[in-house]
Amino acid sequence: MNVTAEREAELIASIPKGLLINGEWRDASDGGTYDVFDPATGKVLATLASATSEDALSALDAADAAQREWALTAPRTRADILRKAFDIIQERKEDFALVMTLEMGKPFSEALGEVTYGSEFLRWFSEEAVRHYGRYLTTPEGKNKILVQNKPVGPCLLITPWNFPLAMATRKVGPAVAAGCTMVLKPAKLTPLTSQLFAQVMMEAGLPAGVLNVVSSASASKISGPIMADHRLRKVSFTGSTPVGVQLMKAAADNVLRTSMELGGNAPFLVFEDADLDAAVEGAMAAKMRNMGEACTAANRFIVQDTVADAFASKFGAAMAALKTGRGTEPETTVGPLIDSKARDEVHALVEAAVSEGATVAVGGNKVEGEGYFYQPTVLNNVPNDATILRQEIFGPVAPITTFHTEQQAIDLANASEYGLASYLYTADVSRMFRVSEQIEFGMVGFNAGVISNAAAPFGGVKQSGLGREGGAEGIAEYSTVQYIGIADP
Ligand code: NAD
Repeated sequence: MNVTAEREAELIASIPKGLLINGEWRDASDGGTYDVFDPATGKVLATLASATSEDALSALDAADAAQREWALTAPRTRADILRKAFDIIQERKEDFALVMTLEMGKPFSEALGEVTYGSEFLRWFSEEAVRHYGRYLTTPEGKNKILVQNKPVGPCLLITPWNFPLAMATRKVGPAVAAGCTMVLKPAKLTPLTSQLFAQVMMEAGLPAGVLNVVSSASASKISGPIMADHRLRKVSFTGSTPVGVQLMKAAADNVLRTSMELGGNAPFLVFEDADLDAAVEGAMAAKMRNMGEACTAANRFIVQDTVADAFASKFGAAMAALKTGRGTEPETTVGPLIDSKARDEVHALVEAAVSEGATVAVGGNKVEGEGYFYQPTVLNNVPNDATILRQEIFGPVAPITTFHTEQQAIDLANASEYGLASYLYTADVSRMFRVSEQIEFGMVGFNAGVISNAAAPFGGVKQSGLGREGGAEGIAEYSTVQYIGIADP
């Protein structure tokens, strides 16, 4: 895709820059603004209104006022709105992809992939909205009946990260709309433009005023603090880092809020000697390099059986070395920039620590000189099992490889993490897949698959990776509460 500067400027200019409160785009109450940058150049892309605490509460006022009527709309009405929004996004998929490439840095082809994945949450939950079953049964004693029905949990605060600007918003807004909740969305300040465009599409699709409010802000806590302390809020759904998730869970406790927490990950990528190594390398490239490694599902620990470690490392190293770093709008680019200079410094510090702990650099290992926040695709061999880089989320294009001898060692190494989100397992042996999956402590397992995210699947983790699931039949339950009616026999 070759994009002209005029096309970029026109698209950015067409996106609303205000706060969406009660169906209207407004300036911040104190007139405050903040800048959004292109990580490939470090230049300002756009200036947006920066919501204050007062604006946050106005957004909650709107969500609260809309909740009662919205909860009573026909499920088909909610389904139709989601389906229409899905259709509009398909028509405008190149606009959505370009905005994500510009504000987040991912290559345009990957951004198009995120449009497909992200918009699927709208289609999937449009279908779930009309099949949100309750249940009816006779009591075990044989007299009286039990009726269980779903109700929307109520106004929700949705907080999203910068790495998947569309999918992280649709994965929350889709099920919340389907369940009949109203919401206040606070996008990440590094990548709010995609959410602004998405909100505009939701309004165009017919969402009533007040159901979705968007308060982008330079200060996240100015938004979350007052909203979460307000008794009208019923739920917070957060995707982001574990430390911020912990803070939000503490705040949620004071107001007895329902919570969904999609937090950090540190995925192991296990390769057994019976695996198809070419398929494993292909899966490893996808699991490691999608989004430049800036994904909670990114493979961060390559744990390879010692008998095939050299063969895997050399094929994988060759594939990593062949990648092309550049601005995501350039057609040949396969690796974009990291999100900012701080993120890149953190990745480099982990590489330096690994080397000082005994790892060897097989490919890359450094920042790319020049404008933007680029980092070389990097492979580290001989990484000791206690290396710092294996304990922390890398969030960059760096692949540390370590080895194991027995299946049990592989399982123990995989589990040696506080995180438990995604994991990957390459083997030709299906019984091994069942055996290992049973013993590894992860919410998701990719079996000979390097990409496992799907709108129909329950995405989520265990341990420090969070609580709750997004997507699948489980996704709508996060936005529902049950009411039980005990019915006396006549
Ligand atoms: P982050 O925790 O810094 O920020 C996430 C969101 O929280 C942003 O909107 C941010 O503005 C807001 N925020 C930050 N501090 C806050 C505070 N004190 N109160 C309220 N809100 C606050 O995370 P990030 O850097 O944007 O995203 C990267 C992290 O997200 C990684 O840890 C990654 O693993 C995780 N992530 C998890 C999933 C998942 O589904 N489990 C998906 C994507 C990203």
